[in-house]
Amino acid sequence: MLKKLRRVFSGKPEAGSAGVPAPVSNQPPMNDRLMDSSSSTRLRLDQARIVERDKHCISRKNISNAALKVLYTLGNEGYHAFLVGGGVRDLLLGNKPKDFDIATDATPEEIKRLFRSSRIIGRRFKIVHIRFGREIIEATTFRAHHGPVDEGDEPEAGDFRKLDSAHSSSGMILRDNVYGNIDEDALRRDFTVNALYYTVNNFRLLDFSTGFEDLENRLIRVLGDPAVRYKEDPVRMLRAIRFCAKLDFSMEENSRSCIDQFAHLLQSVSPARLFDESLKLLAAGFAQPTFVLLKQYRVGEYLFPDTMKLLSRGETPENKLVQLALRNTDERLAQDKSVTPAFLYAALLWPVLRDELQWHGPDSLPNLPEIQTAANTVIQRQIEHVAIPRRFTIAMREIWELQLRLQRRNKRSIESAFNHPRFRAAYDFLLLREESGEDLDQLGRWWTDFQNGDTKHKTELTEAFARSRPKRRRRSRKKSGTGE
Ligand code: ATP
Ligand code: MG
Repeated sequence: MLKKLRRVFSGKPEAGSAGVPAPVSNQPPMNDRLMDSSSSTRLRLDQARIVERDKHCISRKNISNAALKVLYTLGNEGYHAFLVGGGVRDLLLGNKPKDFDIATDATPEEIKRLFRSSRIIGRRFKIVHIRFGREIIEATTFRAHHGPVDEGDEPEAGDFRKLDSAHSSSGMILRDNVYGNIDEDALRRDFTVNALYYTVNNFRLLDFSTGFEDLENRLIRVLGDPAVRYKEDPVRMLRAIRFCAKLDFSMEENSRSCIDQFAHLLQSVSPARLFDESLKLLAAGFAQPTFVLLKQYRVGEYLFPDTMKLLSRGETPENKLVQLALRNTDERLAQDKSVTPAFLYAALLWPVLRDELQWHGPDSLPNLPEIQTAANTVIQRQIEHVAIPRRFTIAMREIWELQLRLQRRNKRSIESAFNHPRFRAAYDFLLLREESGEDLDQLGRWWTDFQNGDTKHKTELTEAFARSRPKRRRRSRKKSGTGE
């Protein structure tokens, strides 16, 4: 690891275009505003630690053509444009960036004018999405720090800033479209390692805080006062956890210690945004370590309150299934296989569904209407916190209902389960149930044989299965919904 980090700041010189694919535009930026004295005041280079091109390892060949095109186009039009965020951070760590974000002094409207397939999204925080085939480059205008805006606050004549911000009474940012200089932009970002800027103008890296040191020390450090920054946007707590898990970083002491105090603010974040964040947390290849941190920092209870409560009760098969599903999700993503959020959420809420049904073993097997009613209750409670879209909740219900159908031992049920569009997911779920320690009489193996068999073998298996129909067990119902 040390070797890798040394590479970060003493990388080979990027020798002009030698060994590097030609940039999208061969034209140098029209005016070198980085060197221009009036605009360098705007850029506040005196505030930055500058790492020259021969002292870092970022090479244009690792930046997508789309991102380069945006950087050069903005530069050619006389704007400042920088790669920033995860793109720079991940390149410095030797990782492949998930996407490329660009920060510029062009306004959203100016950016939009320059790129045909672009659109401005977001109200709270305006971003321009520039589409190149399947790749989307996110461009944002430099933002400035601002306190709550008082009535009557007017921008001074000629002020570059446009006052358009709003805070809630708790300090949460409702709108954040006050434009500013790059150093201000840097300090508005979430963590020091996400606030490093790379320019193709002269291939320099700029750091306005302690991003370089923190990257070397593998630390996630909130920019500014963590209490204020978490109040402004409680999702930053989730992002801190996500980056620690993904990058295998530690959290800096102050950034860490006040999470406990402010985690409850996640209740004021919209369930729709929490759904997006939950996907980034759990469906990005690091679900297992992320989940450990979500529990450790006690923020998971604001995303999946019912699940977290039940998980704290110890190692039941249902709880084990959650762990196995997280592990499988990570493994599949590592192999470039797709994952469906429905499967993941079906697994996360499986302990809750079982608890709701008081379904603790073969003697308490519920019937279909009971599963349907419980699924409604469980999903309804969950979406108050994380708004799982309907297309996923429908699939979750199907996976759960099919668990029952897969256990039915008659020809028609077997055929209809096998032909169900959600069969594969339900079968995988069944295997996880067995792996987690639930005794299902080797049902998973039966379905594996069934799928692999030819028509004749399928018929034989079905007949043998129907003959082996166990005596109907009476469901011993305890009153459900009491929790303990
Ligand atoms: P990745 O894309 O790998 O998940 P990232 O750091 O690029 O990581 P994005 O969500 O793409 O994350 O955001 C891009 C950048 O925007 C961040 O690096 C950070 O500088 C800034 N940013 C994103 N969300 C916030 C936030 N809630 N508060 C402050 N700055 C943010
Ligand atoms: Mg990004």
